[in-house]
Amino acid sequence: MAKRDYYEVLGVDKNASEDEIKKAYRKIAIKYHPDRNPGDKEAEEKFKEAAEAYDVLHDAQKRQQYDQFGFEGVQGMGGFGGGQGFSMDDIFSMFGSVFGGGFGGGFGGGSHGSRGTQRHHGSDLRLKVRLSLQEVANGTTKKFKVRKDITCSHCHGSGSEGGGSETCPTCHGSGVEVRTKQTIFGMMQTQTTCHTCGGEGTVIKNKCHECGGTGVVKGEEVVEIAIPRGVADGMVFTVGGKGNAGHHNGVPGDIQVYIEEEDNDTFIRDGQDVIYNLLLDFPTAALGGEVRIPTIEGTKLKIKIEPGTQPGKTLRLRGKGLPAVQGYGSGTGDLVVNVSVYVPKTLSKHEREAIEKLKDSDNFKGDTSTKNTIFQKFKNYFN
Ligand SMILES: [Zn+2]
Ligand SMILES: [Zn+2]
Repeated sequence: MAKRDYYEVLGVDKNASEDEIKKAYRKIAIKYHPDRNPGDKEAEEKFKEAAEAYDVLHDAQKRQQYDQFGFEGVQGMGGFGGGQGFSMDDIFSMFGSVFGGGFGGGFGGGSHGSRGTQRHHGSDLRLKVRLSLQEVANGTTKKFKVRKDITCSHCHGSGSEGGGSETCPTCHGSGVEVRTKQTIFGMMQTQTTCHTCGGEGTVIKNKCHECGGTGVVKGEEVVEIAIPRGVADGMVFTVGGKGNAGHHNGVPGDIQVYIEEEDNDTFIRDGQDVIYNLLLDFPTAALGGEVRIPTIEGTKLKIKIEPGTQPGKTLRLRGKGLPAVQGYGSGTGDLVVNVSVYVPKTLSKHEREAIEKLKDSDNFKGDTSTKNTIFQKFKNYFN
């Protein structure tokens, strides 16, 4: 695949603000997310391509270099830019910082530090959470048994059977491997994490026989995730520190939680508003009265029906919709009740007689006077 211009990849123009770039990336990342496109190689490529573009354009220094010199300008600057290659894990840890933080509250505070300090970091995990509308309305706490790297209990995460560690023979303690590369600007150096010590600068002399020296083993943990009210399908948030344990008691990764919403039989969600179709019986529509309608919280609500309520009327119950999630919209939505009127499909002899009696009664004839007035005005306007 030919390399596309980073602005083109994100679909933003050259003077796009940082915020516009972030928004554009978020949109693409959700669309081409591997969870939504399992086994789709093209989607994966698009996902990676967007991550690389975002990595360069959201960093003022890299962006300036790229604007001046193009792809060559960002070579050797670290990160994903310059085609040094990057893993899906890298993208997800970046992904977290794009989506995280917008949720606050029960989400346990955003992502960990920058890529530069990842030498002890555990990787992130992903979870899908499927919610009913009622759970969205009320907020909920979900428990998951998560398979992940946990700290080795034998060596307590040190990775050693005792005897300490020694300086890494590959990087001589620096934790990085430096490679020199020929570019059109001459020789340029690129730095990568040392493959022998994983960036720690030291290696363990006497490795733990349980974890092989990493300080982590495969295990399980029950993770409780508090989901605030008002989340929506496609939202992603970060639960800090609940991902894979870091090697040698390093900082654990995060869990990225992807929200999925179940369809609802009773309500239709429209952003923060919720639509309910109410089928009124004819006598109540004509005479007025009270009806009970369901709410998204799972309770019932009494509403007043005015005499002469027409089919097609909309009642808006302010504040009975969904709350906003911090960073996505504001206030609380409404419960919108669309009224229709039920016409009986079959009639008993007695019912038929009653209706036939009313048929010629003045108030039961369609009211044409209003229509005529409007039509008259309309006609007059053109005459
Ligand atoms: Zn161990
Ligand atoms: Zn090393």
